[in-house]
Amino acid sequence: MKSEVKAKMIAIGSADIDEDALGDLTVPTAGPGAGKKAFFFKSGNRRVRLSVNKDSPLKVFTKNDHVVIYYDNEELVTGKIEPELVHCPGQAYITVSEKCIFDCKFCPVPKLGGRIKSFKEVIKLLEKAYDTGKMDSISITSGVSETPDKEVERVNEIVLEAKKYGVPIGVSVYPTNKSNKILKAAGVDEIKYNVETMDRAVFDEVCPDQNLEYILDKLEEAVKLFGKNHVFSNFIIGLGENDDSVIQGIEELASIGVIPILRAANLSPLREGEVYINRPTAERIMYLTRKLKEILDIHGLNAAVSRTMCLPCTGCDMNPHIDLDE
Ligand code: SF4
Repeated sequence: MKSEVKAKMIAIGSADIDEDALGDLTVPTAGPGAGKKAFFFKSGNRRVRLSVNKDSPLKVFTKNDHVVIYYDNEELVTGKIEPELVHCPGQAYITVSEKCIFDCKFCPVPKLGGRIKSFKEVIKLLEKAYDTGKMDSISITSGVSETPDKEVERVNEIVLEAKKYGVPIGVSVYPTNKSNKILKAAGVDEIKYNVETMDRAVFDEVCPDQNLEYILDKLEEAVKLFGKNHVFSNFIIGLGENDDSVIQGIEELASIGVIPILRAANLSPLREGEVYINRPTAERIMYLTRKLKEILDIHGLNAAVSRTMCLPCTGCDMNPHIDLDE
């Protein structure tokens, strides 16, 4: 799959596919895509995750053992539907608390009123994933059900138990004063604290309960503990920010050793009227991914070496060191 084709599919974000052909579908329980059914498509060494939408301009047809995706009645790309392990291929990516006291305006999680998985439940999922022989890594994320500290405690307990599987472990939570130290001591390998946007004015509007400077502080501290190429941050594109502010934001993150993950904004029906969303075009995605690669290279960062969470998955985003042709 060519870079431009993947960027186009990310820009569209969904495909029309016969659900019967898919068997078990992913229903993400965290983040802006929460609550939507989705599937993974792989072509060559590139992967994309698309939500299921019968009105999508991308149409998926099965041909023998592979599928063909059409756009505007023309064949766009051929590949395969990829099975997931837990949430994504090769990883047991588990959301512990499917609820959140924060009210980020783009995120459906606070409105979904999800549940909290018990320790036992999480370990059972890990055990099942491990038994398949296909679990390359473990990723744990969580909304904030009561307090960020309580969430870190919950995740810490899980990580201590999960170390026995001997695979890399990544954690994405809201940072706390002690989260870096606690998670490092527990044996976590990689950390993701999401800035969501680096445009300060947009941040204040869309994440009124969070503190961007605090998150940046904790990211910088995380790099010192977990090392370069092991600290990441989701950075949403399409919240009203312009390209200059994105590039400046990438620069700011990379200069402290953090790899930004550029994520196309998605308007959840549960957030209609609450947030401005302008999902980026394929051209904007390509432009910003090239800029991201340039800046990461200058700072000696490599998005292809991480082992957990979104960078090795590549389902929702362009990984600048995996998904660019040149
Ligand atoms: S890129 Fe991240 S959010 Fe998307 S499917 Fe992969 S692990 Fe999940």
